[in-house]
Amino acid sequence: MDLHQKITELKKQKNAVILAHYYQVPEIQEVADYVGDSLGLSQKAAETDADMIVFAGVHFMAETAKILNPDKKVLLPDLMAGCSLADSCPPDAFRTLVEAHPDHVVITYVNCSAEVKALSDIICTSSNAEKIVNSVPKEVPIIFAPDKNLGKYIQKKTGRKMLLWDGACIVHEAFSMDKLLKLYKEHPGSKIIAHPESESHILETATYIGSTAGMIDYVKKHPAEKFIVATEAGILHKMQQEVPQAVLIPTPAEEDNTCACSECAFMKMNTLQKLYDCLLHETPQIEVSEEIRKKAILPIERMLELSK
Ligand code: SF4
Repeated sequence: MDLHQKITELKKQKNAVILAHYYQVPEIQEVADYVGDSLGLSQKAAETDADMIVFAGVHFMAETAKILNPDKKVLLPDLMAGCSLADSCPPDAFRTLVEAHPDHVVITYVNCSAEVKALSDIICTSSNAEKIVNSVPKEVPIIFAPDKNLGKYIQKKTGRKMLLWDGACIVHEAFSMDKLLKLYKEHPGSKIIAHPESESHILETATYIGSTAGMIDYVKKHPAEKFIVATEAGILHKMQQEVPQAVLIPTPAEEDNTCACSECAFMKMNTLQKLYDCLLHETPQIEVSEEIRKKAILPIERMLELSK
């Protein structure tokens, strides 16, 4: 039996569900029960009746699933699969900011630790950030963390002035403007589509800006076009599956001289072999202390409620 088959049998035996992010390697996306963006993955984690969740993504995603499912086993194939954006917001420093602004509503992007979630009022993803910000009365000031690029983009969309945390994703900040413009010259008329974690100068060139799920939907609506895609290159697998005739070109990174695309080293730590091993041995498991979990679940539930 190959690994794919072994994983499929094992997950049936153990009543496990495999949730995978669009940035996972294709062979993991192929074996997953659901592939999606952070919002879709949180919604699936909230509604699953499986006994065990194997999260093929990064640590904060599996942690969110555990917060929503304290009685289930939540597994992450590689415990070292972290996130530069989540790491850019240490809980102690964030607490100091929140405590210094007690009149502010704290909106936090899902890419953060359970401790940071526990200090927040509402969680958001790139799919619903605009809606969540607009749900806060106009006169109430907002702290937005940890992604400053998404924060700036949402400020522009909503006209709200927000206190932004100075965090960023190393992958989305690595795109090369020069290489992007060169690509556009080589493929005139192509549509540039970008994730809002990208820097403002990249977003200004884009025809469409949205979450990974939003970007896939946009390509589906314009199937005959050519696209230059500014987000982690793992998304191309699902995009191409959904729209086989679309021409997809990944945006290169500044320092990237060996490969044509930008990949998240954390997301790529998960492999099919590690997925199989973790399902077989039921380890490594994600744990969240009950004290933090009780606080962190409230802003997640607010987000899920506002996203219905
Ligand atoms: S792509 Fe960026 S935000 Fe996403 S997991 Fe990797 S480092 Fe974090």
